[in-house]
Amino acid sequence: QVRVRFAPSPTGNLHVGGARTALFNYLFARSKGGKFVLRIEDTDLERSTKESEEAVLQDLSWLGLDWDEGPGVGGDYGPYRQSERNSLYKQYADKLLESGHVYRCFCSNEELEKMKEIAKLKQLPPVYTGKWATATDAEVQKELERGTPYTYRFRVPKDGSLKISDLIRGEVSWNLDTLGDFVIMRSNGQPVYNFCVTVDDATMAISHVIRAEEHLPNTLRQALIYKALGFSMPYFAHVSLILAPDRSKLSKRHGATSVGQFREMGYLPQAMVNYLALLGWGDGTENEFFTLKQLVEKFTIERVNKSGAIFDSTKLSINLLEQEAIQLLKDGIDLVPDSDKALSNLLSYPLRDTLTSSEGKSIVEDNLSEVAAHLLAAYDGGELLAALEEGHAGWQKWVKGFGKTLKRKGKSLFMPLRVLLTGKLHGPDMGASILLIHKAGTHGIVSPRAE
Ligand code: GLU
Repeated sequence: QVRVRFAPSPTGNLHVGGARTALFNYLFARSKGGKFVLRIEDTDLERSTKESEEAVLQDLSWLGLDWDEGPGVGGDYGPYRQSERNSLYKQYADKLLESGHVYRCFCSNEELEKMKEIAKLKQLPPVYTGKWATATDAEVQKELERGTPYTYRFRVPKDGSLKISDLIRGEVSWNLDTLGDFVIMRSNGQPVYNFCVTVDDATMAISHVIRAEEHLPNTLRQALIYKALGFSMPYFAHVSLILAPDRSKLSKRHGATSVGQFREMGYLPQAMVNYLALLGWGDGTENEFFTLKQLVEKFTIERVNKSGAIFDSTKLSINLLEQEAIQLLKDGIDLVPDSDKALSNLLSYPLRDTLTSSEGKSIVEDNLSEVAAHLLAAYDGGELLAALEEGHAGWQKWVKGFGKTLKRKGKSLFMPLRVLLTGKLHGPDMGASILLIHKAGTHGIVSPRAE
């Protein structure tokens, strides 16, 4: 049976990368009639918080990604929080100790630091070279009697390589000689992340591990632990990173990146799901609109792209707004026969409702009438519509020129302009919004405000 899991660490908000991983797991499970398990990886007690766990669960529910087993719903393989599974980890760690795959390491931190320094001087990889891998029973016994603290260290096979076949990346292999014996349980009894994940995936009978590419180095360690425990290995599928348009790692400076932020901006969950699915996946056609149900029907892991997916917030805005427009249409919003009307309606929309209790109120009020006068002139003169016909680049060029004429930039330009064009103080990319409104107008769809 197909069993997959999404395993967030509750140390912050659910970001688009995590949400996409969750979605792919969900789609895979649903398309195979399998189970979608949610596991909370809260081994990092200092960084994990209950609030973050709740926020992640809320975001997943909002996206419609319901889980079959996990917090809130239970299941036969629980508990589903790592912090509640410590006795299990201890049990398996001891098993590995007995079978000799793990040994007790009594090295002090100073000794370990020294090993690292020496390796660095010799330009060798920082692998463990301490004596405890080969210590005699008597030597171990002596330290135990003295009460010296010890870690459980995993004995990595000294040469050869390890190979996995990844459903997205194909064959991935590692040379084992650069991987030192690694710790699986600290001297305070706290199990180490990679060990927990392996024990969990194995004991929760996970058949396919679908996760972000950044976990590949962990896969090597986890695969070794799998083998040592005698469990059969799951299939792995490592999904590529989500990149910013300049191909750097997507981060906060690129704008909204968490699911909660998009929800607050008013995006519809189905539109968000649609966009997330298209980050690295497509059905092979030009189609860019899928409901969650259609995604379940169409999704295959083989079609997930090996290269990084670009997170383009303008495209996201357009895509999401287009979905919303279609949704509005479905909800029975009036169609106007006169296609040009949408924009002119927007321009005459009464503003008092949006402006009553807002922080940007004074900026908008102080600048509104002047910006409005020029905007109306640009609309009447046809320049605005002509610019919109040229798409996003046309809009950008126009707005730049508009600002120059008015000798305004920043908030005093964009806030009143946004209010005038969209009727709202905040929202997704303004260019994308207005293009969509224009497009919707051309197709005879108007937003409810324009009625
Ligand atoms: N807890 C990890 C994370 O949030 C995921 C680990 C995994 O999927 O194996 O990045």
